Amino acid sequence: MGKTIVFANQKGGVGKTTTSVNLGSYIAESGKKVLLVDFDPQGNMSSSVNADSTKNGIYEVVSGKAQVKDTIQNTVVKNLDILTSNINLSGAGVELVEYKDWEHFLERSLATVKDDYDFIFIDSPPSLDVLTLNGLTAADSVIIPLQCEYFALEGLSLLLQTIKKVQKNINSDLKICGIVFTMYDSRTNLANEVVQEVSGYFKDKVFKTVIPRNIRLSEAPSHSVPINLYSPQCIGAKSYEKLAQEVLERV
Ligand code: ATP
Ligand code: MG
Repeated sequence: MGKTIVFANQKGGVGKTTTSVNLGSYIAESGKKVLLVDFDPQGNMSSSVNADSTKNGIYEVVSGKAQVKDTIQNTVVKNLDILTSNINLSGAGVELVEYKDWEHFLERSLATVKDDYDFIFIDSPPSLDVLTLNGLTAADSVIIPLQCEYFALEGLSLLLQTIKKVQKNINSDLKICGIVFTMYDSRTNLANEVVQEVSGYFKDKVFKTVIPRNIRLSEAPSHSVPINLYSPQCIGAKSYEKLAQEVLERV
């Protein structure tokens, strides 16, 4: 049965989508079957792998018009599938809470395909709303992408409190798989200070691999392919390849 990992941080633009897509792609490249679940109305994960967001996706599943099994699309990467999302999902919160046990909706939906995959990677929106809560409930573990900036730390404690509440009340099995630093710039003192402070506190929860700021990583989505297809030799690609190995060792 597949391991489900949610990528969460209510702070916007910290690398949730970039990390979930590229990790997923490297793990798929290693021969594991991976399902990406775009659970963000922005649909960035879907466009990052050239999926067709006009076809049925997770929104149609939420609104009861489609089943997960019939909505999954293949991607350009072998072994990598996706359940797409689009802007319609932004109104789905109201529909979701109409379900009994709405927190478990995504978990129930993904249970129908969990046996078909080694990993399910859920991308979540930059908020702690019903979508993110559904993601945390559906997941076995959470990966927290953290930008190496001062304000990144402010949001972290709120996120950790939320995770604790979910563990206590809804999903006692939820683990923190790890914290990954993104967009690291070794030239700035602040980035080094943030890495040292967070690593000192969270110790082995922090992944050893740090993702550097790398222009290729930001270009790849505009070509609708993950970094292993766009620029496999660049430092950003090598970093996500290493991170994929670390994740495989941890789970
Ligand atoms: P949101 O909260 O809006 O969903 P996010 O947390 O998913 O954002 P991303 O979309 O992954 O964040 O990244 C934000 C922006 O930074 C994107 O334009 C992305 O291409 C770019 N980016 C992400 N990681 C890197 C990196 N290591 N180096 C350079 N650019 C990056
Ligand atoms: Mg995103």
